[in-house]
Amino acid sequence: LQRNVGETEFHQAVKEVLESLGRVVAKHPQYLDDALIERICEPERQIIFRIPWVDDRGQVQINRGFRVQFNSALGPYKGGIRFHPSVNIGIIKFLGFEQIFKNALTGLPIGGGKGGSDFDPKGRSDAEIMRFCQSLMTELHRHIGEYTDVPAGDIGVGAREIGYMFGQYKRLTNRYEAGVLTGKGLTYGGSRARTEATGYGNAYFIQAMLATKSTDFEDKRVVVSGSGNVALYSIQKVKEFGAKVVACSDSSGYIVDDNGIDWALLREIKEVKRLRVSEYARAKGNGVHFVSTGSVWDVPCDIAMPSATQNELSGKDAATLIKNGVIAVGEGANMPCTPEAIRAFQEAGVMFAPGKAANAGGVATSALEMQQNASRDSWTFAQTEARLASIMQGIHDTCAETADEYGAPGNYVLGANIAGFVKVAEAMRSFGVI
Ligand code: NDP
Repeated sequence: LQRNVGETEFHQAVKEVLESLGRVVAKHPQYLDDALIERICEPERQIIFRIPWVDDRGQVQINRGFRVQFNSALGPYKGGIRFHPSVNIGIIKFLGFEQIFKNALTGLPIGGGKGGSDFDPKGRSDAEIMRFCQSLMTELHRHIGEYTDVPAGDIGVGAREIGYMFGQYKRLTNRYEAGVLTGKGLTYGGSRARTEATGYGNAYFIQAMLATKSTDFEDKRVVVSGSGNVALYSIQKVKEFGAKVVACSDSSGYIVDDNGIDWALLREIKEVKRLRVSEYARAKGNGVHFVSTGSVWDVPCDIAMPSATQNELSGKDAATLIKNGVIAVGEGANMPCTPEAIRAFQEAGVMFAPGKAANAGGVATSALEMQQNASRDSWTFAQTEARLASIMQGIHDTCAETADEYGAPGNYVLGANIAGFVKVAEAMRSFGVI
């Protein structure tokens, strides 16, 4: 705590993992040797840098850039870049810390890292976004590489931003190093199904969790928060699984469509036109309403998929969901449920899938993109999605089996934290004190 003053979200993420580890060290006291747990909590490297750029009015703007290279025991650092005004070192460290265990759970050779900037892309022109991305990469390029650190997208960073960053990396290094970034466009080394992977992956994870209770998505009412990359593709997949998605949101409010959200229309408004979610209600008219106050979690549902941002679902929201009969929650976002909310779900017997397991499909497919880049290959959508589905089933089973093994059946939080930790800890022990 003293070493990381004021880093609230980082403390929250570390506390949750440490709370799960009591049972591990009771069984395997070797993990207390050589300050292994303290070492895992300390990033290998943290880079903070200035990002100067010129806006459309000719004014110089300054933002702050971050890259936290947290742990490379299992492979090159891997994790997204976030553009949001709330970004600070504590948020990037919480995300990087979660990423270590998430990446370990995928079973693929990737370490954990995360980056971002306090840049706010809202209302910025394409040209401003390009100049900002180029300036960021002018510094970041010296710290990343196919075998070192492989960034991807996150909040505010999608294919457009990855394209600008990749172009600048290529220009600065004079190398066509496709594996240095993931989430690339399909014309220059991107993987099919990467855009869809996080949302689809969460749907696959929840499907596996529901199957343990002999049920599925068929005819279930689903509420998804957010309407960005993760939310959009969660909505698409669970509709395919037979569910009805009745609400989604953005930071201005939420929409309720009791007939089930029209996915193609929502995608056009959010992904193509980059408009607010209220435009959906305007376009649909009758029967659909936009609500600018309160919480999307007030809308009754069977399954909740928080897919916007950290700490967006409070203990009070959890109580409302439980009162309305929710049976399962799958975290599409990173740490969207507060500790109080998670406790309430677990005490009420609601199936709960933590983000580091349920949203691992995105980074897993990024690792598949790296595989395709390394072998100069390009897989079909069906082939890539089949790999994603089997990876998600594997993560589900690992979490469930680990929870059983440690005497907490059905506790996916404990299962994910322990399984991820043991894998990283074993590799670190092999390396000695480094
Ligand atoms: P996007 O930028 O595509 O979408 C984010 C969505 O969440 C938008 O609808 C946005 O609304 C909303 N949102 C963001 N911040 C806030 C806030 N402070 N309050 C209310 N709403 C907010 O991001 P992604 O979909 O990529 O990421 C969403 C979450 O999923 C994040 O937690 C991310 O870390 C996590 N994640 C993403 C992965 C990926 O592959 N993209 C992989 C694994 C996890 P608005 O537009 O109004 O800001």
